[in-house]
Amino acid sequence: MENTPKSKVVLIHCPVYDNEAVFEALQKGINLLGGLEAFVQKDEKILLKPNLLRKAAPEQAVTTHPTVFRAIAKLLREQGYSNLLYGDSPGSVMTPFKVAQAAGLKPAADEFNLLEGDFMNGVKIDFPEGKAVKSFSICKGVVDADAIINLCKMKTHALVRVTGAVKNTYGCVSGFNKGAGHAKYPDADNFSKMLADLNVLVKPKLHIMDGIMAMEGNGPGSGDPTPMNVLLISADPVALDSVFCHLVALDPQRVPTNVYAEIYGVGKSHSKDIEVVTEDGVITCEEAFAKYGNPKFNVNRGELKKENPGKKGRKPHIVKEKCIKCGICVDICPVEEKALSMDKKAGTIPQYDYDKCIRCYCCQEMCPQKAIEVKTPLMVRLLGTKVKSKRK
Ligand code: SF4
Ligand code: SF4
Repeated sequence: MENTPKSKVVLIHCPVYDNEAVFEALQKGINLLGGLEAFVQKDEKILLKPNLLRKAAPEQAVTTHPTVFRAIAKLLREQGYSNLLYGDSPGSVMTPFKVAQAAGLKPAADEFNLLEGDFMNGVKIDFPEGKAVKSFSICKGVVDADAIINLCKMKTHALVRVTGAVKNTYGCVSGFNKGAGHAKYPDADNFSKMLADLNVLVKPKLHIMDGIMAMEGNGPGSGDPTPMNVLLISADPVALDSVFCHLVALDPQRVPTNVYAEIYGVGKSHSKDIEVVTEDGVITCEEAFAKYGNPKFNVNRGELKKENPGKKGRKPHIVKEKCIKCGICVDICPVEEKALSMDKKAGTIPQYDYDKCIRCYCCQEMCPQKAIEVKTPLMVRLLGTKVKSKRK
């Protein structure tokens, strides 16, 4: 392991969502990695896989920004790549292309003649070599492609702390099977093991993270946009996510997707194994933090808990004043007998049954009103403080 080359993560400073500026930044970044042909070939059918979690305007920082999506589409077309498609399986049953329309990606897709991949139908893929999961239902659009370029967004995540390159591949899993995956692998560790296997299976060739305007706080759907002013590009999704962690002063080892994806051989998560390539030369992860980082970025930096924090720990809560009683959270809840209920006719606010709730936070991800917050109950917080102060 000592003699294996370090994983390269390109970091390009890019403070604005301007078509030309983002294109120039992306082109520079990909050239620093050896050019597109180091990753994808001109005779391949290439899938662009943005983050299309749910319908949201670009400025909400929920989805991959259209300028980043446009920049890679333009670069591929200019360099003679002719067989391009795009798509993602959103968190709800909504067609990805309605989400792409709302997220501003559709005009770029039309401008560069990107075909819509089939993300409504799944294909069961046996995966006997999987360590945690032996088969997946993968969207047909993914199966149809020869190569994937993963266009992830820099965001926080209630279950696994951050969502980046590794987590973004979950949109390759078809429709309701994503909810079933949450129900089957409800805690952060097991969910991350499943994601690590998924990354071994779908293995995108290149990962591009839109970290120009990131999301902090109540992510991945209800947090606050905050500028991080960077594009990160790498063939190693774990190294890329680790650089993201460094930039926000989060120990990469406290992110279970990094930990298990490294164990499963997807990539490298330790700073000694990563070099950050910038226009001004190669720097370390620590130097990248000093130059481009934000120590105040609002993200959960607490210790990883092995157990499902479920019954005692963090819980989703509805902020009544923000709730419009749309029922999306109830529909999305993957628990068979529903851990959320509401009387739609009477127009009541959904109620949680915390005994049934598996703490997957799908409801929080998909609420369009940012009305669901994930909180640690006061007693648990107080007891946690007591335990810590005894240890001193
Ligand atoms: S999804 Fe959000 S707004 Fe809609 S009912 Fe649930 S909490 Fe209320
Ligand atoms: S109520 Fe929310 S957090 Fe609980 S199981 Fe349902 S979707 Fe997951």
